[in-house]
Amino acid sequence: APSLNVDVAIIGAGPSGSIAASLLHAQGKRVVVLEKQHFPRFSIGESLLPCCMTVIEQANMLAAVEQAGFQFKNGAAFKYRDKYTQFDFTDKFTSGPGTTFQVERANFDKLLADEAQKQGVDIRYGHSVESIELQAEPRLVLINEQGQQQIVNAQFVLDASGFGRVLPRLLDLEKPSSLPSRSAVFNHIRDNITDKNFDRNKILISVHPDNQDIWYWLIPFSDGRCSVGVVGKAEQLEGLTTDDCDLNQVLTTMINQEPGLKQLLANAELINQSALLKGYSANVSTLATNKFALLGNAGEFLDPVFSSGVTIAMQSASMATKALIKQLDGHQVDWDQEYAAPLMKGVDTFRTYVEAWYDCRFQDAIFFDDPDPKVKQMICSILAGYAWDDTNPFVSESKRRLDMVVELCRS
Ligand code: FAD
Repeated sequence: APSLNVDVAIIGAGPSGSIAASLLHAQGKRVVVLEKQHFPRFSIGESLLPCCMTVIEQANMLAAVEQAGFQFKNGAAFKYRDKYTQFDFTDKFTSGPGTTFQVERANFDKLLADEAQKQGVDIRYGHSVESIELQAEPRLVLINEQGQQQIVNAQFVLDASGFGRVLPRLLDLEKPSSLPSRSAVFNHIRDNITDKNFDRNKILISVHPDNQDIWYWLIPFSDGRCSVGVVGKAEQLEGLTTDDCDLNQVLTTMINQEPGLKQLLANAELINQSALLKGYSANVSTLATNKFALLGNAGEFLDPVFSSGVTIAMQSASMATKALIKQLDGHQVDWDQEYAAPLMKGVDTFRTYVEAWYDCRFQDAIFFDDPDPKVKQMICSILAGYAWDDTNPFVSESKRRLDMVVELCRS
């Protein structure tokens, strides 16, 4: 089989793969990105957080993203029964961008990949990574669409394969998530929203009126369409009985159970066949060694409620490439200390908030009528994605601080 020799082989051209490739290429490293599909291709994960704009800027892709006509986003709104609260991401504790976009990932991911390609990155579409050998140097076996094998020899492999989870599967790194298994049913809609008070610049997270474990996202796009989805344990989603059940029916039934959404989306039309993602949370036993590192969703994935996925994916690309450039330049890297631990700091901050969302402590805190403005700014920083900012007490002591706020609200 023909073979290719590079410094770094990257599996997957999603946000983590494209950004990592760009950052490495800018430092003169020989990179190849191996992508199974052709772009544009659908992906879930459409609401970005402002923090990821800093990484997009590092990769010299900010102008392209800003000029693409994506829906502007400046915050998040939450609704439960008659309570409504919103976070304005520009009013936050941590400095850095306070706005971002809501994007159809098919277009967004293609844009990032095209930008990387324009910068000179070699992306091979229609190439699926099938196996890996980790000898002195990693060796990947690919299959192209003609069924032909190719070999890539690299000094290092970055797995940016998202839910493909290529290295966790091939190297037996899969570990069950600490979070219970939840499922999502979602679709794009022509929303036909007429309510003048509806804020298209924010993601709307609505809580089911009778079961706070179930929630919905509504993510407006710039062209009169929205992404809408419902999340819950499989048995909580009415009509989700068999794998071939009518998912449009499940989604519509669930939407109609939340009076606010039912009214807002009274004239909405589903655009595609609704999709189901079951048991989306995932974890791994090892994030990196001196031969490979897992980026984004190929590592740990928690939960979509705070839209943290793409931000974590881009942060992981930024952190891993920094350590990798050092290693390729001949220095010793301690991957646990220099990559896994710092990345997990932010992931663990989000974990605190995800757990507190589902046990309702966080919901009590945000729907409290009289929040302390300084505390709200600190929490807002985390919701804007700045979950690695140690100067924020709600990051450095995320659980204790959040417990204190919850206690105050509940007393
Ligand atoms: P991906 O974007 O998934 O890219 C992986 C790429 O690898 C794909 O293009 C795939 O084709 C390729 N690949 C896979 N296998 C192979 C192989 N064998 N060989 C070659 N290539 C391969 N995140 C947000 O930020 N905001 C949200 O609002 C949000 N909502 C979500 C809602 C739900 C229900 C879920 C489950 C997740 C959500 N996420 C959200 C998370 C988000 O989807 C992911 O975190 C994000 O897409 C991860 O990006 P990535 O670069 O790691 O991988």
